[in-house]
Amino acid sequence: MNLLRVENLKVDYLTPDGVLQAVDNVSFEIKQGEILGLVGESGSGKSTAAMAAMRILGPPALIAGGRVIFKERDVLKMTAEELRRWHWQDVSIVMQSALNALNPVLVIQEHFVDTINAHCPEQSNGEVLERAAKLLKMVDIDPRYLKSYPHELSGGMRQRIVIALALALYPQLLIMDEPTTALDVVVEREIIKRVLQLQKEMGFAILFITHDLSLLLEFATQLGVLYAGRLVEIGPVEVFRRGGVHPYTQGLFQAVPQLHGAREAFKSIPGSPPSMKNPPPGCRFHPRCPLAEERCSKEQPELKQIAQEHQLACHVRSRD
Ligand code: SF4
Repeated sequence: MNLLRVENLKVDYLTPDGVLQAVDNVSFEIKQGEILGLVGESGSGKSTAAMAAMRILGPPALIAGGRVIFKERDVLKMTAEELRRWHWQDVSIVMQSALNALNPVLVIQEHFVDTINAHCPEQSNGEVLERAAKLLKMVDIDPRYLKSYPHELSGGMRQRIVIALALALYPQLLIMDEPTTALDVVVEREIIKRVLQLQKEMGFAILFITHDLSLLLEFATQLGVLYAGRLVEIGPVEVFRRGGVHPYTQGLFQAVPQLHGAREAFKSIPGSPPSMKNPPPGCRFHPRCPLAEERCSKEQPELKQIAQEHQLACHVRSRD
């Protein structure tokens, strides 16, 4: 059963220089217990799409079209009160920077008390603190740190606490927006391992946003690749373990340094991502694409089904 269905989502930023289309016609689905990874360069629209789906974007961002359905409920039509209840109880988010996600003048305990009280006012203080201690243990943090301020903890501990806080009301969907970007690789692995254990135990689904394609290959069940605000390829992770089909996906793979096998020249994708104020016509990847042909600069490729659950937006590769 689909937990979250995003259909043709469009998000614009209204800037003094005009309208910037940050997310253009993006669609994806997440089933119960599934892990969908969204990958793309900075500015490709992955965080904007996730935050728009949660309805936590404020001006100058504007949801310009599309639908977001969570278990048959239309999120874009929810009232402010329905949205308040939906957040945290059904869906919660782990932001990129744990230090900014925690209030520097509150001890950790207060974050849990505020969150749980706002949604479960019937719980006594004792019950809330007991639950906060249990949540910290879940992410391998000693409950004595409930009395600490965020600045007294390491980056890895803060990120674990933000994850525990996001799981405080046992949501069905956890959005993780580059949750380990600021951490070293050892701490990153430990945190991911713990989140995956919790996901198995608790059964929530994850929308994991990152620019690290190789990380997603290790645990995602399906993967979507965004380029300049559009989804260019989405499908089961096995497709991507074989290198993907879209020229941009393949370019991302070639840009990952290989630790094994023969030495090869390092290949990066030529050029840079386009300005979203004035994106190229047709396929937005065409100025950088090694397979581009005349049609690519004129016609926008639509996302088409090319195999079971595998969709692709490319004139050349979808006819091969
Ligand atoms: Fe390249 Fe054309 Fe495919 Fe775009 S549509 S990715 S430019 S081949």
